[in-house]
Amino acid sequence: MVTPNGFVVPVVGGEDDAWLVKSPCSNEVTVDGQPIEGAHVVLDPGHGGSETGAIGPNGVSEEDVNLDVALRVKRLLEQRGAVVVMTRATDVRVTIDMRATLAVALQPLAFVSVHHNAGAVRKQSTPGSETYHHLEDPESKRLAGLVYEELIDKLSPYGTDWVVGGDSGAHGRRSLNDGDDFYGILRRTQGIPGVLSESAYLTNPFEERLLDTEQFRESEATAIANAIIRFVSTDDPGGGFIPALESSSDPGGGGGTGGCEDPPLG
Ligand SMILES: [Zn+2]
Repeated sequence: MVTPNGFVVPVVGGEDDAWLVKSPCSNEVTVDGQPIEGAHVVLDPGHGGSETGAIGPNGVSEEDVNLDVALRVKRLLEQRGAVVVMTRATDVRVTIDMRATLAVALQPLAFVSVHHNAGAVRKQSTPGSETYHHLEDPESKRLAGLVYEELIDKLSPYGTDWVVGGDSGAHGRRSLNDGDDFYGILRRTQGIPGVLSESAYLTNPFEERLLDTEQFRESEATAIANAIIRFVSTDDPGGGFIPALESSSDPGGGGGTGGCEDPPLG
């Protein structure tokens, strides 16, 4: 449902004028608001509020780039008639639990979590873009392959001074602790075609400069929007698939409830 001041939050109980919802910080609170029926697409700009995500060498903040790119994807999809919901539409802290609860409640045709990468280890002449899919879901995998294909197509023309962490490509990432998806947002959104996109490396000065321009952000947004449109309207298989990574570390990046302060919802 949508609160009177515009927050979209998942309903967990209650009724008209007294909905029990999960707040951005994952508290259960009672609020007034308008129900919404569902969405074709849910977009999830990573981080926000006191969780900045990656910061580039010249101070460009991942939380801001993620939100701006996602808002551009939303505009492009709405121009095609899609109903699009964002897990956050402002600079606000939102837990991974709340993002996933909202996405699952809305049962979209596609779910894309928008991030930008950090900590690359070597240079490469093509974008080091990575898209992560659910380990065991072929449709999530197809969407990740389409997002990867489109990102490489739209971003490659910007130059050759890219960096890469492990390998660029469309892949899963398995937690060696329990064999499940490594990233919390993917592990909690099983059953809907979900992808986590890491389009470019904010920690590379060349890519940070690009990410600070409207033109590059619009190109990235066009890539993600095109991929979603191809996903729902064609059987295209996507490309760039590489074997799953395996990780035993903590994914980091925040998303928990510690220190989270809810905004007013009414
Ligand atoms: Zn991130």
